[in-house]
Amino acid sequence: MKAILLPGPGMPFTYETVPDPTPGPGEAVARVLACGSGLTIHHARAGRLKLNHYPRIIGHEIAGEIVAVGAGVNEVTIGDGVTAYFYFNCGHCHWCRINRETLCENHAGYVGRESDGGYAEFIKLPARSFMKFPDGIDWRKNPAEAGVICDALATPLKVIRRARVTPHDTVAVFGAGGGLGIHMLMVARWARAKKVIAVDTSAAKFEAAVKCGADITIDASAGRVAEQLLEATGGKGIAVAIDFVSNKSTLEPAVAALGKGGRLVTLSGNGQSFTADSAKILRNEIEIMGSRYATRQEVMDTLELVARGEFSALVTEKRPLEQAEALHQRLDKELIIGRAALVMG
Ligand SMILES: [Zn+2]
Repeated sequence: MKAILLPGPGMPFTYETVPDPTPGPGEAVARVLACGSGLTIHHARAGRLKLNHYPRIIGHEIAGEIVAVGAGVNEVTIGDGVTAYFYFNCGHCHWCRINRETLCENHAGYVGRESDGGYAEFIKLPARSFMKFPDGIDWRKNPAEAGVICDALATPLKVIRRARVTPHDTVAVFGAGGGLGIHMLMVARWARAKKVIAVDTSAAKFEAAVKCGADITIDASAGRVAEQLLEATGGKGIAVAIDFVSNKSTLEPAVAALGKGGRLVTLSGNGQSFTADSAKILRNEIEIMGSRYATRQEVMDTLELVARGEFSALVTEKRPLEQAEALHQRLDKELIIGRAALVMG
C-alpha cells in the first residue's frame, strides 16, 4: 500500500510503498478514506513529541471501511464504515469501568503513535479500537468531515459537559482559530451558551470564528485579554474559559477573567506553571480542571449528534495522501483555519 512515513522526530514525511497490513487475532483492517491532520499529530511530525518507534505512520481521525477481520473478531464486519477511538485503553480498570477511560490505569498509548495510524491506504488496529458510524453520517461521500468527528468534535462535546455550560454562561475559547478551537465555538453555540467569545492572536482567524458561532472576537496580541473579557461582560467576568493554548500568558488572564462560579478548562499539556489568586478562587468558587480527549461514549454521542444534524465538522483544507508534507508545512506555519485532512481518493 501507499503510506506516509515519519522517518524520525522533526523529519519530513516520505511517501512510500509498504506491505499491506493483515489482521491477526482480534484485529481488523480498514481501507482509509480520509484522515484528519490536526495539531495533536503535527506535534509528532514537528518533533515536539517523540515516538517510541520510527518510521511511523501517524494519524488517528479516520473514516474507513473494514476490509478484513482476524480470528475471533465480532466488533466489526467487512463493509462497516468506521472511525477510530484515539486511546488504547484496557476497558476493565476502575476508570474504564466508571466511564472515565481517558484516565485508564493501563493506558497503552495512542492510535498513530504506539501503532501505525491513518496516513496510509489501510490501517490495522485492535477491532475494539474501531467505532462504527451510525446511520445518518455519509462517510463515503464526506469521509474527511466524518473522520475528524472522533476528536475535533468529540473533544469539545466533553468540554461542554465537564464545564457544565448552561444558557446563562458566557464562554471564552482561547486558541479559537485552531482546529479544535473552531469546533469548540460551534459546540458552545450549539449548547446555547449565552455568549461565545473567540480569543486568538491571529486576526485572520476571526472571520471563521464568527461564522462558527463566536459573538465577540478578542485579539490577544495586545496583551490585555483579561480586561477585554471583563469589558465584554460588563465587569461580571466570564463563566467558562476553555484554553487550548494553556501557557502562562493565556491561563493567567483566563482565571483573572472568570466571574462568580467560573470554570477554567485546560486542554494543552505544555506543562507551564501559572499563578492564580487563591482568595479569588475561594471567594468566587472557581473551578480549575483539565480535560483529556473523550470517552467512547462521548465519541458515540458526538457521532449521533452529527448524524442528527445538530452540528457538523468543518474541514477547510483537503489534500491527497502524497501531499501530507506540504499540508503539515502549512500547519506548522499556522496557516490553516479549522481542520485539515488527507483524502485518499
Ligand atoms: Zn482501563
